[in-house]
Amino acid sequence: MKSATMRGTGLGAVSYESERHAEAPECEIVRYACSFGHQSAIPFSIEAEEIPLTWMCRCGREAAAANKVPKMAFVTTVEPRVLRTHWDMLLERRTIADLQELLTERLALLRNQEAEEQRLSA
Ligand SMILES: [Zn+2]
Repeated sequence: MKSATMRGTGLGAVSYESERHAEAPECEIVRYACSFGHQSAIPFSIEAEEIPLTWMCRCGREAAAANKVPKMAFVTTVEPRVLRTHWDMLLERRTIADLQELLTERLALLRNQEAEEQRLSA
């Protein structure tokens, strides 16, 4: 009698949990993209109350949801914030070739200055 009770309890505890997971794997994939172009695909349960507008990218930037109009979009006016570094902003105005040219110019100037100072102190 005692062993029958224990077996029943054990079966019930195990089977419910695993059946539920097997039957309802329904989720929706939300794609996020950061300002650096990294893409992340995050699965959310379709029962989720609210899909976040932004997700932390693997590079540390904030990534905005790309393929999903969130349920809260019509209620809130908050824009997804895009974090940009000084480097990002610089690259919006200059190309790498431009920067290379500027660097070469500045280095030449500094070297001329240095040479001039050495000439004067000699
Ligand atoms: Zn990123």
